[in-house]
Amino acid sequence: MDNIKHRGLRKRLVQQLAHKGNFDPKVMEAMLRVPRHLFIEPSFLRYAYQDMAFPIGCGQTISQPFTVAAQTSLLEVAPRMKVLEIGTGSGYQSAVLCDMGANLFSIERHLPLHEQSKQLLEQLTYRPRLYYADGYIGLPTIAPFDRILITAAAPEIPQQLLKQLGDGGIMVVPVGEGKDQEMIKIRRCGDQFQTENHGAFSFVPMLKGRE
Ligand code: SAH
Repeated sequence: MDNIKHRGLRKRLVQQLAHKGNFDPKVMEAMLRVPRHLFIEPSFLRYAYQDMAFPIGCGQTISQPFTVAAQTSLLEVAPRMKVLEIGTGSGYQSAVLCDMGANLFSIERHLPLHEQSKQLLEQLTYRPRLYYADGYIGLPTIAPFDRILITAAAPEIPQQLLKQLGDGGIMVVPVGEGKDQEMIKIRRCGDQFQTENHGAFSFVPMLKGRE
């Protein structure tokens, strides 16, 4: 399932990422542990440890490792934080967050992806709460969250999700409708929202409703 060859490829990938950006060491450690090859089709093993996005079915992609490293570092995750992820997809980003000790809630709008990621994350003994639902609505009955991570491109900052961010909380969201999006980090301080732009990334779109 996860052998010495996979671990070697993973180490090389993480070393490459460390040269490309200044990432949170705790994120790098989690990426060293999570077996990314299990989140894509077994016949495409050789792509699992390259720094690229890859199709996962339903017209969606597993995020590029660089993007996972960047988004998760910006999120400033610490153990036991309540984290909401929009776009479970393959479940890889979810596994990284769980590995870092997050108390994770993750929403996916495609049923096959929700079911596949649920099965795999259980096998790997990660315990996120996974929902087949529209992420635009979030989880108002479970809010507030310490952290909110959106892994699909939002046309604008989703206001309903912003309301579910607790005081001192951080949201990371790629915003924009074209080919590229701006990575926006928002920190809530009481009724104030401080916004930073962390440059261009490329995501599949965040869409309304369930499939
Ligand atoms: N975090 C994922 C990234 C998958 S791509 C991974 O590591 O594999 C983004 C995902 O967001 C897709 O699976 C897409 O179906 C999902 N998505 C898009 N809009 C959504 C919405 N409104 N609610 C929930 N999921 C959504």
